[in-house]
Amino acid sequence: MSIGTRKRGLIAKLRSLLHRIRPSRSESASFDPFIYRSIIDFSPFAIVCTGMDRHICMVNRSFLNLFGYQQQDIVGCKISTIYAREKDFANAVQGRFAPTADPSRRSYLMRYKRGDGSEFWGLTVGGPMLGHRGETIGFIGNIIDYSKEVETKQEFETVRHRLEVALEASQIGVWEYSVPDQGLIWDTQMYRIYGVTPEQFSGAYEAWAKGLHPEDAESAQKNLADAIAGVRPFDCEFRVLCPDGTVRYVRAKAKVVRDAQGKPLKMFGVNWDVTKEREQELKLIEAKAQADRANHAKSQFLSNMSHEIRTPMNGVLGMAEVLMAEDLNVVQTKCVSTIVSSGRSMMNVLNDILDYSKIEMGHLKIELHDFDLHELLRSTISLFETIASEKSLSFELDMEDRIPQWVNSDSTRLRQVLSNLISNAIKFTEKGRVLLSVKVDSQPQNQGYRVLFCVQDTGLGIDQEIHDLIFASFTQADESTTRKFGGTGLGLAISRQLVNLLGGELRLTSELGKGSCFYFSLPLGEATKHSPQEKRVETAFAKEIKILLAEDNHVNREVVMLFLQQLGLSADTVVDGEQACAKACKQSYDLIFMDCQMPKMDGFVATRKIRECIHGKSSVIIALTAHAMETERQKCLAAGMDDFITKPLSKSRLEEKLAHWFPLGGASPTSNTREA
Ligand code: ADP
Repeated sequence: MSIGTRKRGLIAKLRSLLHRIRPSRSESASFDPFIYRSIIDFSPFAIVCTGMDRHICMVNRSFLNLFGYQQQDIVGCKISTIYAREKDFANAVQGRFAPTADPSRRSYLMRYKRGDGSEFWGLTVGGPMLGHRGETIGFIGNIIDYSKEVETKQEFETVRHRLEVALEASQIGVWEYSVPDQGLIWDTQMYRIYGVTPEQFSGAYEAWAKGLHPEDAESAQKNLADAIAGVRPFDCEFRVLCPDGTVRYVRAKAKVVRDAQGKPLKMFGVNWDVTKEREQELKLIEAKAQADRANHAKSQFLSNMSHEIRTPMNGVLGMAEVLMAEDLNVVQTKCVSTIVSSGRSMMNVLNDILDYSKIEMGHLKIELHDFDLHELLRSTISLFETIASEKSLSFELDMEDRIPQWVNSDSTRLRQVLSNLISNAIKFTEKGRVLLSVKVDSQPQNQGYRVLFCVQDTGLGIDQEIHDLIFASFTQADESTTRKFGGTGLGLAISRQLVNLLGGELRLTSELGKGSCFYFSLPLGEATKHSPQEKRVETAFAKEIKILLAEDNHVNREVVMLFLQQLGLSADTVVDGEQACAKACKQSYDLIFMDCQMPKMDGFVATRKIRECIHGKSSVIIALTAHAMETERQKCLAAGMDDFITKPLSKSRLEEKLAHWFPLGGASPTSNTREA
């Protein structure tokens, strides 16, 4: 039962009691309220009577119990004695008890004071006591202890206020929907969310239905209908089109209240504005799409740039290599070797940028195979011995005896990381030593080994504060480093990613002015016994090979022809795909070097056509491509090519390919494409 209902019931009871103890007008003229004492005494309510002078003349037992007085202590006292505050007394009695007073004002809540001084809320129904001529001869009040109800009401009000504040702060709108008559009640937040005023609509349901965005109206109303039908809870989002044209995203949740038979009676729900979140999401999606487009454009740019640089570099490095094989004097040899080493440096930068872009796009894959770790370490060291000795640095490999010779990992990537770290160590060390130490890591390993690689130097060292920073791409310790030593700032970023891909973590200890130590520990698998894949590269090949070279760029054509000539071979040449097709279909070639980008018909189409017309007959087709991306390799294989060499070409690489496909005195492999 609600507080209001209980209060109304009590007031009715108090009134009827008051009515019973009020004398009728026909009673004797000498009205004496004391003759009603027995009625009053049996009343469960506290009753107090006063004379006209407002002094208490009679109270019942319930009164004495409620107020904690003895009869003799309270009878004769002023009625204000039992009021907690004097001014309440004044307000309470003012005009209330006159016979002409509005009867509805005769019931009121009052704060009372007990004999011991404690206070309580009392619900009172008061009235005049009338003499037999209808004149007022005193006043009577029925009081019940109403403290609990008032406290409950106060608590309820507190909760209501808190809720109101919370809803206002969170800007959540609350609604109530009566299912049988479709009456919808909104609070003020709801009107704010829908951008309307209550006056603009005859009913809230109309405001809701009209406010829905045309594209979401059907689904939102279906959601509501489904919730009422008990199909699924009302928990959805829709757009609202405000009268001023703005669109808002609204999140809605509601609960359906049903009767005992499950018939829906009411829905209580909330709405809140999620426009900011949705707009933020849309912005993020757009920003991501933009970033993806930019990334794609960047990859495209890198791929094109790589192609554009590799093509002329093929001419520069190829011709320089051809020249090296000639009889040159000392000055000429120095000039040519400078061209070669500068060209190679340039290719290293290009390869770094390409590797970085591959890593960024997640295209860089680790290729596991068995290899000779001892050989890898020694050959890597030997690459840097000359520059180290030019700087008078002591440069050593310290390999623990326990280090296994044959292991399984990706030798190319391991060599790349070690080379980068050693190259940096030598670059940033003016005196002292550079040491590559390789030890078995004590960390337990289920299978294979865990090996700790450490490149130590006695060079510049790196400030503790920027230890993390230098692993970021395009970052160097400071600008003076760039000016003095050059570099792209990509080496460590790539190395860290490669070490991660290999199963380790690249770390650093370094102190400014004292040197650095870059180290990482890698899991190395056990190599399959006696089946090492990394052998000494075989370069002997059969000399009777019929070769066709399809290449539109005359410099590159010249380079290949000169290399072949130096290797004791010759080739027919064509300058586009069409010519290549015509020639290859007319006479059979053992080997076709196919440039990928050519006018009239590119190398991919030409390869497909050649494969069609020579079907069955085996011709090895090797792509010559200036694109170094993995996608290009896939494209070559898909077109029917057997292998591919990236530009710039080198004579040794060409030799390797010839030995692989046309081994001296052996059968040529038919598949097993290898990346150049
Ligand atoms: P790069 O060497 O091309 O500049 P890296 O990513 O390899 O790019 O190195 C980033 C920076 O880290 C270098 O520019 C240098 O400032 C610092 N650094 C790397 N290795 C060392 C080292 N062994 N000693 C001192 N500084 C180093």
